Amino acid sequence: MKAPIVLDDAIRKVPDFPKPGILFYDITGILVQPRAFRYCIDQMVKLYRKERVDAIAAIESRGFIFAAPFAERMGIPLILIRKKGKLPGKTYACKYALEYGEAEIEVHQADVKAGERILVMDDLIATGGTLAAARNVLEQGGATVAGFFGVVGLPFLNYAKSLGDLPVKTLIEYYGE
Ligand code: AMP
Repeated sequence: MKAPIVLDDAIRKVPDFPKPGILFYDITGILVQPRAFRYCIDQMVKLYRKERVDAIAAIESRGFIFAAPFAERMGIPLILIRKKGKLPGKTYACKYALEYGEAEIEVHQADVKAGERILVMDDLIATGGTLAAARNVLEQGGATVAGFFGVVGLPFLNYAKSLGDLPVKTLIEYYGE
């Protein structure tokens, strides 16, 4: 019998990356273990198969990796939310604050259908700022956000405050070092 998957074992913790004081949770350790990667997609499908999710929107770039097999398994559209300047068509855009400076994300207007319930995901949720900006661009198109998903959640960075009233689901949470 195969040993059960322990997701924590597959997530590398890299201190002081990309800058001093940050503990980086590296999901590439999941991707090189097919059983761990499949476990993540299976769990995602279990979490959402009974909910009305019309499409999944994923954040560039690590969010794409988990969202693509999920979309295929669920038989729903995959919407890419990208950094400014990467999408060729007409977009909805939102600027948001980073720890230092600001960033901007975009989504193709043609990909967002008014009235759809869209799940938004990324590999990791820290402050929730990126997912809140994603919600903004989807709502500009008249869609509703069904909830947020992160493979990893860092609740001590207060994402609940940014994401407020909507459900947030994760596969594993860390509470600091
Ligand atoms: P936030 O907008 O603060 O929720 O940040 C989420 C984005 O930043 C995600 O795309 C993550 O991949 C990345 N990120 C933020 N903090 C970390 C961390 N400690 N380890 C790995 N990725 C992180």
